[in-house]
Amino acid sequence: MVRRPDLRDRLYEGWLCSRPFWVYPPMIVAMAAWAGPRTEWTAAVGLFGGGLAAWTLVEWGLHRLMHVPTRSPGFRRFQEFAHLRHHREPDNLPGSIVRLRGSLALAVAFLALALAAFQTVAPAMLFHAGLTAGYVWYEVVHFATHARWRLPGLAWLQRYHALHHSRQWNRAFGVTCPLWDWVFETLPR
Ligand SMILES: [Zn+2]
Ligand SMILES: [Zn+2]
Repeated sequence: MVRRPDLRDRLYEGWLCSRPFWVYPPMIVAMAAWAGPRTEWTAAVGLFGGGLAAWTLVEWGLHRLMHVPTRSPGFRRFQEFAHLRHHREPDNLPGSIVRLRGSLALAVAFLALALAAFQTVAPAMLFHAGLTAGYVWYEVVHFATHARWRLPGLAWLQRYHALHHSRQWNRAFGVTCPLWDWVFETLPR
């Protein structure tokens, strides 16, 4: 007999589905609030926007990597665990959100890269805040697509990701932006 989910199961499932939205927005606000007043405002807006734009390339690249054919059993297992299972279970909503363990590790790595590139903390923080905001936006669009929420103005992006799931796994890697699919010639047919 299948056990009916009780309140604890629902709370746990709710947490699994909502964890990036609890963790990252406060981090984005804290980084922007600390670094914003330490930077000239046009530069601050530019850095945040630059991070946001950079996210669209990171999103395309990471998603592309998940679908690269590989002979390495270890990497194949990683792709399977991190993404390919999502293709077989697109209706498993907690499974369509990136695990916190993975996203936090990537966030630390990208912050380190930004610090190395900018050599100053405040610009790196603003760029990273933009990049992280892009990631949170990705989770919104992706989750809404799989939860079949109708979000005003987003129907075309949701259809775009649905194309990736409908036998075009080697195309439409962008979720929030189709630009890099156009650049790298992976637009869906
Ligand atoms: Zn998906
Ligand atoms: Zn995919």
